[in-house]
Amino acid sequence: MRYIDPHIHMVSRTTDDYKRMALAGCVLVSEPAFWAGFDRSGAEGFRDYFRQLTTFERNRSLAYGIEHQCWLCINAKEAENVALAREVIAMIPEFLAGPGVLGIGEIGLNKNTRNEATVFLEHLELAARLLELVLVHTPHLADKYQGTRMILDMLRDEPRIDPERVCIDHVEEHTIRLALEAGHWVGMTLYPITKCTPSRAADMVETYGAERVMVNSAGDWGHSDPLAVPEFIFEMRARGHDEALIRRVVYENPLAFFSQCPRFQFTPRGDAVAATP
Ligand SMILES: [Zn+2]
Repeated sequence: MRYIDPHIHMVSRTTDDYKRMALAGCVLVSEPAFWAGFDRSGAEGFRDYFRQLTTFERNRSLAYGIEHQCWLCINAKEAENVALAREVIAMIPEFLAGPGVLGIGEIGLNKNTRNEATVFLEHLELAARLLELVLVHTPHLADKYQGTRMILDMLRDEPRIDPERVCIDHVEEHTIRLALEAGHWVGMTLYPITKCTPSRAADMVETYGAERVMVNSAGDWGHSDPLAVPEFIFEMRARGHDEALIRRVVYENPLAFFSQCPRFQFTPRGDAVAATP
């Protein structure tokens, strides 16, 4: 089945991963800006990272027939340094016009600190002013519920951003309902250990339905699986769900969310031929 991985950090993955993903049916990835595993020494480090995302990484993906889209921001971990964050936020508009940029992300909270909230709001201000889509990282484990509540409150207080133009990512059983009821899209991250397994994600689709729901691998430099979305497809088929429901979660939903970005253009290989009478 053709699928989209709407959250994966391909700069941390090998070219062999691109090949295995293409063989498994991946036609599009979206890559949020994130923490490199160490704090960058200054704003110019982010300029290089944004160049990597919008040029080198996009071309590496396209070489395997996988469309590459990205999101730009300073992540919550480095956002503790507000002065650095402001320099990076000021730089983002330079890159937004380029091909393959979907919006601002993955912004959010990590330890739910005051500085993180300040930088989150300044990213929202940029997104509201430039009419950009927003991808939101929610905190890990013990900080997730409170952080998600804080994020949803800050989004509710920004009337210029339509809830449908925001995806709340890494939702789990105790946060998915809050995000859906606020009118946002949600992403379930399929990790081998923390966050959410393919089986827990399938349970949540059975409980909450497929509307505005996506799944992703969030594959990065840590313990993660770039083929996690096909694992979810496998799990859903094993439970007897029909192909149309599965396709909605792994393909049509991310496409609908991304299509709200006026720069987004995507013609999957084969569709033009299929459309010819
Ligand atoms: Zn991520």
